[in-house]
Amino acid sequence: MPVQGIFNESDSPARGLPTLAVLHKGASKESSNGGMPPDLPYFRIEFKPQFAHLRPIWEQLYGKEPKEFANVLLTAGTSDQAFSFWKEQWSATTLLKRCDGVTVVRHWEPRTGKYSDEPQACAGAGCKCKMVGKLPLIFPEFVRKTGILGVITLNTTSLEDVITIDKALRSVETLWGNLASVPFTFGRAEREISTPNPKDPSTRLKVKKSLCYLYVAPEFAKTRLLGALEGENASALPSSGAPAGNAQQALPAPSDWRDAFCQWCADVFGVACEQVELALANYANGGEFNGTKEEAIAAVVLLVANYDLEQAIDLVKSKVPAQRVDAVLQIVTEYMNAVMAEAEFPE
Ligand SMILES: [Zn+2]
Repeated sequence: MPVQGIFNESDSPARGLPTLAVLHKGASKESSNGGMPPDLPYFRIEFKPQFAHLRPIWEQLYGKEPKEFANVLLTAGTSDQAFSFWKEQWSATTLLKRCDGVTVVRHWEPRTGKYSDEPQACAGAGCKCKMVGKLPLIFPEFVRKTGILGVITLNTTSLEDVITIDKALRSVETLWGNLASVPFTFGRAEREISTPNPKDPSTRLKVKKSLCYLYVAPEFAKTRLLGALEGENASALPSSGAPAGNAQQALPAPSDWRDAFCQWCADVFGVACEQVELALANYANGGEFNGTKEEAIAAVVLLVANYDLEQAIDLVKSKVPAQRVDAVLQIVTEYMNAVMAEAEFPE
C-alpha cells in the first residue's frame, strides 16, 4: 500500500509518464485579447517548456494544423483510468475545485495553502466548475522519432466530446478487454448539434461544432478485433480469406458447428464422427497423438476453435510422431483450403 496522500485517485491518469504537450481545441488565451478564445478547426499543440524543442519533429509528422491522428495509444487498460473527466474551477494558475456535479472531491484551502480531499457537497446550480476532459495519448511515431516516452494530453471542455470519448472507450473495453493494447484513430470534424437558444432558452438551436471522434484503427479492427469477436460467436468460422488473426482466448469448439464439421470430415475424409470425438477427448486428457486421420481432424477442430493456424501447427508438431507430421499437416492444410475456397462447409 503506498503512502497515503502522495497520490490522489482523481489526478490525471498516466501520471507516471511525463506530459510533453497538451492538445487544445481552441485558440490560446493570449491570442484572444482577454476575450473568449475562439474554437479552431484543428488541434493546437502547446508543448511544455522543457519539451518545446520537439515541436519541429511534431510538425514534420503531423503538420501545423492536424485534424486527425492514426494509431494513437491510450495509457491504461480501462476507460476509467484512460480518460478522466471532472468539473473543475481554475484561477489563472491554480486548480481551485474539482467536482463530479454532486460532490467536490478536491479543493484548495487558502488558509493552509494546501489541497483538501475532504468531500464536500457541490453547490449545484451555483457551482462554478466547468467540464474538463483529459485524454492522455501516446503517439508511437512521435516516440519513435524523439525517443521520449511521454504523453500528449487532449484537453476538451465540450460535453459532447466527453460523451463521445467515454462511450467509444467503454464499448471497445467491453468487446476487447484491455484498452492499453488497442491503437485508435483520433480526430475532430464538424458535426451539427442541438443546443439551448441563448436568446430564448425555451427553444433550441442547431449549431455546427468541431467535435472529437475516436475509433479503433482499421488495421487492428480487421486483423485482431474482428477475429476475437467472431471467435466468441457460435457461427464463428472464417467465412472468407485467411484465418482471422490471433484470437485472444482459446475457446471451446461450439457444439452446433462441431457436429456439422464432423459430418463434413466423414464425407471428405471418410472418418467417423465418434473417432474424431475420441481423439478430441484423448487430446483433452493430455494423451499422445498417434498421427491418425481422426487425430488430425481433432487438431483441426481445435484449430478452428482457437482461430489460430500457428497454434494448430504447433499442436500437431508436438503431439504427432515426427514421421506422421507431414501427413497430418496435409489434412490441416486441406481443410484450411476448403474453408478459404468457401467449399461446401455448412454455415
Ligand atoms: Zn460542483
